[in-house]
Amino acid sequence: MITFEGVTKRYPDGTVAVDSLDLEIAAGSLTVLVGPSGCGKTTTLRMINRMIDATEGTVAVDGRDVRDVDPPTLRRGIGYVIQQAGLFPHRTIVDNIATVPFLLGQDKKRARGQALELMERVGLDPKLAKRYPAQLSGGQQQRVGVARALAADPPILLMDEPFSAVDPIVRTSLQDEFLRLQAEVEKTIVFVTHDIDEAVKLGNKIAVFQVGGRLAQYAAPDELLDA
Ligand code: ADP
Ligand code: ADP
Repeated sequence: MITFEGVTKRYPDGTVAVDSLDLEIAAGSLTVLVGPSGCGKTTTLRMINRMIDATEGTVAVDGRDVRDVDPPTLRRGIGYVIQQAGLFPHRTIVDNIATVPFLLGQDKKRARGQALELMERVGLDPKLAKRYPAQLSGGQQQRVGVARALAADPPILLMDEPFSAVDPIVRTSLQDEFLRLQAEVEKTIVFVTHDIDEAVKLGNKIAVFQVGGRLAQYAAPDELLDA
């Protein structure tokens, strides 16, 4: 479980990005943070893995204040997927996916074997394994990003607009495959989007933010009130 208690983030220039946030994200849920640009979604997400620290209040993972855990240890349990997949251009796809297992000193052959299995799970043809990122389409690169985040098998996955940079048809198939994948893996997923249709399609719980960084609603998709 991830909890926010009275969390405010004020940037040094005085901007209040997140204002007095109380939120409980259940283990195993797919929670979507949605709202217009600038309403504090990314800031909220990054306070979970301590890329950003709260100014006030407490963020906790499984009951433990994230400030009591050193960031590398915390992040080992938290995968992170962003809009630009952020792949290493000079490494092959399979080695991009195996980045974390390599860093953890896992046997290379085994790590690559697991990476190939992950490629199939995210809908990537294993024949693409030896290509480089620039030789893949945008949608394929995002799949690699998801596979790489899953390779470390973290209990928590943070996803910031992972499907926003691809065209609508590719986006729809990424969403459909992601829903299938989510049903298979037991992870707590926090997913940021500005697209309410995507939020309703993917989320079991939806947190609607409004400009100024306040939480306006937190409900299951069929219980949302028209904003
Ligand atoms: P969203 O993800 O919903 O688009 P963000 O969390 O990125 O929103 O930003 C929330 C607010 O905080 C915005 O007004 C944004 O301009 C501001 N902001 C984000 N990062 C910084 C920063 N490093 N310094 C100052 N203001 C920031
Ligand atoms: P999208 O419409 O998703 O952006 P692209 O037009 O970028 O797709 O790519 C279509 C197909 O061509 C993909 O299967 C991709 O793997 C392949 N491809 C794209 N660029 C290259 C390249 N430089 N070398 C080899 N294959 C490529």
